[in-house]
Amino acid sequence: MPLPKIEIIGQQSGPHLLITGGVHGDEFEPMVALQQLGKLLPAYTENLHGRVTLIPIVNEPAFMRRDRVAEDNKDLARTCPGSQSGSVTERIAAELTTEIRQADYYIDLHTGGTKIAVYPLAGYMLHPDPKVLDTSRRMALAFGLPVVWGTTSRLEGRSLSIARDAGIPAIYTEYLGGGTCSPGGVQAYLQGCLNILQELNLLQGDLPTIDHGTAKEHVQLTIEDDREGAGHMQVNHPAPIGGLWKPEVELGHFVQEGDCLGRISSPTGEQGTEIFANQTGMVLVLRTYCRVDKEEFLAVILEPSSAQESEIMREISTHQPRFMHSVSLKQLID
Ligand SMILES: [Zn+2]
Repeated sequence: MPLPKIEIIGQQSGPHLLITGGVHGDEFEPMVALQQLGKLLPAYTENLHGRVTLIPIVNEPAFMRRDRVAEDNKDLARTCPGSQSGSVTERIAAELTTEIRQADYYIDLHTGGTKIAVYPLAGYMLHPDPKVLDTSRRMALAFGLPVVWGTTSRLEGRSLSIARDAGIPAIYTEYLGGGTCSPGGVQAYLQGCLNILQELNLLQGDLPTIDHGTAKEHVQLTIEDDREGAGHMQVNHPAPIGGLWKPEVELGHFVQEGDCLGRISSPTGEQGTEIFANQTGMVLVLRTYCRVDKEEFLAVILEPSSAQESEIMREISTHQPRFMHSVSLKQLID
C-alpha cells in the first residue's frame, strides 16, 4: 500500500524534508496546501538544496469515507509504527513510518477535522536530545502560526513519536477545522511550509512569494509544558450528557476558571446543563459540531504558566487576529 506522494528534487544536494497532510481523512486545508506546494515548487528546483516529499492525503481510506478514521476505526495518529500485516490503518501507519524514517526533517499538517476547531498552532515534542529539540523549536517558530507549543515527548503512536525515536526534528500543526477548507488556512500552511524551507536552507535565493505576507507578524505565544497529558487534546471538558452543544465562548478567548463555556440541551430541549471552565487560560480547542455524545470532549484550555504568557493570551483574546479573516484562495496562487 504505497502512499501517493509528490517528490521535488533540487538541483543542489541537501537534506530531505517530508510534509504530510490527511493523516485524518476530514482535514482539508493541509491537503489543498500540499497540492498547491506541489505545483509551486517544481519551478524552483534550481534554488532547492535537497529534496521535498509531499503526501497530501496519507489516510486515503478515511478520506474516501469522509471521516477522520478508516473502516477499522483506528486513529492513525495513535497507531504508528503500525504493521504491514495488520488492519488498513495499521498498514498505512507502517508505510508512514517508513517515509518518516527516510526524512531528515518532518512536518505533519492537521486541523481539528469535522467536529472541532483548533486555534492555529505549531507543536513539537520536548525531545531529550537538545539538538533535535532546538531544530524542532526553530521549525515551529518559523512556521509562523500564533501559538507555538512544546509538549512532553512521552507520547506514543503518533507520527511525531516515530520521528522522535529516529532523532528527526519534527513539528505538527493545527489550523481551525469544522469541516471547512478555509482559504486563510491554506495560505497559512503554504506560507508556513515555505518559511521552513527557508529556515532549513533547503530553499535559497529567489523564492516563491505569496501576496499576503507572512503570518509571522502576529503575536506569537510560545509555551513549553513537559507535564504528562499536556498536548493530548481529547481529554478535556467531557460532556456530562449527550444532546445539542452550544458554545458560549470563541476560540482564542481568555476565560477564568468557573466561566461558562457553553451549554448542552437534551434533544427535546427540556433538560440542559451548563459547562464551566475547569482552568483559567485561552480556549485552544473548541467543539464546533452541535450534536454531542456523553463523554465526548468539548474544549481544551491552554493555561498560562507566567504573567507574561497570560498577558500575551489576553492580547490574542482581545484582538481579532488577521489570520482569522479569510482571503480568497484565487488570490493566493493564480
Ligand atoms: Zn488530525
